[in-house]
Amino acid sequence: MRIDVSDLKKSPGESIQVELSSPLPEFEFNGEKLIFNGPVRASLEVTNTGKALLVEGEVRGVLEVRCARCLEPFRWPVETTLNEVYYPADNEEAAVVDPAEEEYQEWIPFTGDVLDVTPEVLKSIMLALPMRFLCDENCRGLCPRCGRNLNVAECSCPGEDVDPRLMVLKDMFKDVNR
Ligand SMILES: [Zn+2]
Ligand SMILES: [Zn+2]
Repeated sequence: MRIDVSDLKKSPGESIQVELSSPLPEFEFNGEKLIFNGPVRASLEVTNTGKALLVEGEVRGVLEVRCARCLEPFRWPVETTLNEVYYPADNEEAAVVDPAEEEYQEWIPFTGDVLDVTPEVLKSIMLALPMRFLCDENCRGLCPRCGRNLNVAECSCPGEDVDPRLMVLKDMFKDVNR
């Protein structure tokens, strides 16, 4: 996701609006590979503050995920904001930052006429994701005994309400007693 800033770089005080739409590669999140269903879109305003380029706006995409309980695949729309400051690393004068202002420590260097915001877009998406994906807050998950998806149909296993974590404990004790 690249922004041509060749003109904006020369115009302190100016802003431009950009609409980006780009396929992004799969990425790893909590040990799982996640892929996007279609392009990631960003509506951004880029402002030349005189010292740096301020990039602000909305980022939207849809991920293909799997429910942590029933393992069914489903789509997870993600909407988040981007708020980053890029400074031209090839212009020392412009890179002068005021260390008293903490936010400046977050400034990101760039060179040339093109701003590649892909890493920051991905980062903002990852920060907006939950620890685990649930197809529904009330997802009943899989039967720990037969593995049937309990959202689809009841199974006839006894003791359906057994917590899967307890099942694991039970299995451990079985091993100990062997
Ligand atoms: Zn589910
Ligand atoms: Zn069952």
